[in-house]
Amino acid sequence: MVTRSSRLRGFYQHNPEERLRIVAGWAGLTEEEVAILRQGLSVAQGDKMIENVVAAYALPLGVATNFLINDRDYLIPMVIEEPSVVAGAGYAARLARAGGGFWTGSTEPEMIGQIQVLGLDDLQAARQRLLDGRQRLLALANEQDPVIVRLGGGARDLDVRILDDTPAGPMLILHLIYDCRDAMGANVVNTACEALAPQVEAISGGRVRLRILSNLADRRLARARTVIPVVALARPEDGFSGAEVAQGMVEAWAFAAADPYRAATHNKGIMNGIDAVVMATGNDWRAVEAGAHAYAARSGRYTSLTQWGRDVEGNLAGSIELPLAVGIVGGATRAHPTAKLVLKILGVQTARELSEVMAAVGLAQNLAAIRALAAEGIQRGHMRLHARHLGQGEKERG
Ligand code: NAD
Repeated sequence: MVTRSSRLRGFYQHNPEERLRIVAGWAGLTEEEVAILRQGLSVAQGDKMIENVVAAYALPLGVATNFLINDRDYLIPMVIEEPSVVAGAGYAARLARAGGGFWTGSTEPEMIGQIQVLGLDDLQAARQRLLDGRQRLLALANEQDPVIVRLGGGARDLDVRILDDTPAGPMLILHLIYDCRDAMGANVVNTACEALAPQVEAISGGRVRLRILSNLADRRLARARTVIPVVALARPEDGFSGAEVAQGMVEAWAFAAADPYRAATHNKGIMNGIDAVVMATGNDWRAVEAGAHAYAARSGRYTSLTQWGRDVEGNLAGSIELPLAVGIVGGATRAHPTAKLVLKILGVQTARELSEVMAAVGLAQNLAAIRALAAEGIQRGHMRLHARHLGQGEKERG
């Protein structure tokens, strides 16, 4: 195994062409691949992706350094129009490195497909009949994508929910739980749901309306955690101790944990990092955004996607958990020439690994944001204290 460090000192001081060379060497890109990265998406390639194409639209692709995730170094390609995001991620990853980096995990890549059934008199009885038909329905779903089934994915389970009170009266919702392996899975799941619809009508005696995946992918979660040694947070140049900064950051997080107005902005900052990697890898950022914010509101009150606190030694400990429905096959991940190479630079082997890297980037971005915000607050506090001390001195002198 090659051991390479993502701690590329002075990377930012190079020009873009030099940086491209460094990244290419790091990731083992061929000359042809470097040329593809320079060129980006052509109009002809774009014309195959969406409708009515007239041009290709470019955004900057930056690379965040310093990421150490589960003891492995990653360079993180990020596509974003907003300044300071890439630098913030790299800076926070450097802080996290001081404590061993990020530790991540994820659930199986299970998505939920929804089938809406209306026109039922006895919803409980229909629900039971559908649950009794579970094996038959799962087998039918699995006939739709033999490739995924061969790779170990496919239909896993059924759940049947009753919505008693909707503006269109009571309805029954069948959830198809489907393991999408390395695909984001929207098309796969939609196809399976469409195939099940006639059987669901026959078994339930109702009428099927919608058959589509849910973006609240709460069975497809990615997690990351990190511990920042309190000494690494000190800012002697500004006169702040590490403990002061850590405490300020926990207080900044607590505001987001308790207040949806703050949580929206706090989570936006997290998504600055995650979306940039979702974009770079050709994944569906609207799907990821929808899932993240719906998950943040799952308790009934919208709150922070991260948690921050102090461990027994006073170090700053952070964690994140959110749904991340992303793939390394399907969609634009291989159709977009840059996205394909971004996946090579990342070196991820599975969709789960990609989602875990994204969770770590989200946590890093949040760390950078609350550190900056908390430090500003501490700065103001110090100024006030300083002013008071000056006033005191004057009084004493006077
Ligand atoms: P896809 O349709 O390209 O399908 C992926 C295919 O890859 C599968 O059918 C499978 O047979 C094959 N495959 C090969 N190797 C695989 C592996 N290792 N693991 C899994 N599958 C493998 O892509 P998709 O992921 O089903 O759909 C993603 C697209 O759907 C995105 O472009 C997204 O924007 C779009 N979409 C999203 C929504 C939504 O989020 N609400 C709705 C509709 C469509």
